Amino acid sequence: MEQRVVVVGAGLCGSLLALYLAQKGYHVHVYEKRSDPRIHFQSKGRSINLALSDRGLAGLQLVGLDKKALEISIPMKGRQIHSAENSKLSFLPYSGREQEWINSISRQELNHILLNEVEKFSNVNVFFNHECVALDTITGTLSMECEGNMIHTKGEVIFGTDGANSAVRQAFLKQSAIYQFNYSQQFLEAGYKELEIPPSDSDNFRLEKNALHIWPRDGFMMIALPNLDKSFTVTLFMPLKGELSFENLNSSDRVIAFFKTHFPDAYEQMPNLSDDFFNNPTSSLHTVKCFPWQVEGKCVLLGDAAHAVVPFYGQGMNASFEDVLVLSQIIEQNSTNFEWKNILELFQVRRKQNTDAIADLAVDNFYEMRDATADPFFHKKRQLEIYLEQNHSEYFSKYSLVTFREDLSYYQAMTQGRKQDKFLMEFVKNLQKDESINYNLLLEKISLL
Ligand SMILES: Cc1cc2nc3c(=O)[nH]c(=O)nc-3n(C[C@H](O)[C@H](O)[C@H](O)COP(=O)(O)OP(=O)(O)OC[C@H]3O[C@@H](n4cnc5c(N)ncnc54)[C@H](O)[C@@H]3O)c2cc1C
Repeated sequence: MEQRVVVVGAGLCGSLLALYLAQKGYHVHVYEKRSDPRIHFQSKGRSINLALSDRGLAGLQLVGLDKKALEISIPMKGRQIHSAENSKLSFLPYSGREQEWINSISRQELNHILLNEVEKFSNVNVFFNHECVALDTITGTLSMECEGNMIHTKGEVIFGTDGANSAVRQAFLKQSAIYQFNYSQQFLEAGYKELEIPPSDSDNFRLEKNALHIWPRDGFMMIALPNLDKSFTVTLFMPLKGELSFENLNSSDRVIAFFKTHFPDAYEQMPNLSDDFFNNPTSSLHTVKCFPWQVEGKCVLLGDAAHAVVPFYGQGMNASFEDVLVLSQIIEQNSTNFEWKNILELFQVRRKQNTDAIADLAVDNFYEMRDATADPFFHKKRQLEIYLEQNHSEYFSKYSLVTFREDLSYYQAMTQGRKQDKFLMEFVKNLQKDESINYNLLLEKISLL
């Protein structure tokens, strides 16, 4: 196969896609605006670590890298909740089944293993410091800026995997009237800042290692994920403006007072808090929905470029990897009478409803993590679901449907999960003190939802 295809953006989705296409025998040119991340550390402000789960692992398995990724991950078996009252700890497993958990992985390390593998193929060329600045969607001609020079290139197909602020998508937008390109961008009122809990003086984890830590507070929250060097990457999510907001945390004294009041246990473990707070950027969060994702079988969007989601289901990268998996399945299923236009049309139709579903679930989960994890009924419901998952393997909570059932689409997981949530919340609210539960009857009712 001698077709040359072009991938714009060598982040997580682009490098996985380039690897798959290289393995299929395509001649692949990858253009990445940044310098080589294996030489220059660049992750400040863009989530240092990520939760990798089953859908993402299935994407990595496609290219044979799932096991390698797990080797550099830390299992997180559940949510460790740090309550506002006396920093009381409670552990909520992600699932009642022993083999189901999510994994904390370094964005940088994952990108490294993907790029290292990509570069083993002689049919791939990766060009760093090449920024896509324009795209003619009719001829498939890309314009790239590299160290002040303009370079033009063409490909049989252009894959836009250039992230949430995609330049490829921008080109679609410029010709939106021709392609009836629909686009929406929805900002969350909250932004985020990354901070750090370093390893202890005795070089140990300062918090439980195998958990995703959450400090839910009214109107804001903080999370922490473990790293292999025994530190935790901490992310504070709070409104960008208003009384309790990033805007108002504008002096070291205010930051320290805020942390002492709201996160006293974390504060004790954050010796560099003030420096980190003022050195690290405050970033905003938004959802991008658009359609169509492809133009005439020539250009197509994948990953965040097609569907940026807020990070509260830990699924943005997982969904992007699932894009590559689904595309590969469509390519395999259509290998006779192969035509890119047909492949890309099938791809966008199969994915759109699902990425819309995970986008909506992620926004819902922002409110759940921020507020509901502090709600006693929410805890009761989680306990009940854990019991059901531990004792009735056919039961999957909404979180488990989304995270551990890659055999279901995001849309199916969302629809079933939402029905279950509504039903079980009502159920625990109506449960009388000391009332015993008929679990078989309960499961039967759930199966009829
Ligand atoms: C705070 C935060 C936490 C997150 N946590 C999780 C999580 O726990 N689990 C999870 O699954 N997802 C998570 N995500 C989402 C995840 O980061 C993204 O979904 C994922 O990175 C998407 O991959 P991508 O390759 O599409 O985009 P990116 O990873 O952003 O890669 C895009 C690449 O394109 C390059 N590029 C950009 N513009 C151009 C251009 N004009 N020309 C050439 N190259 C260009 C960029 O330099 C970059 O390398 C999180 C996101 C955030 C912000």
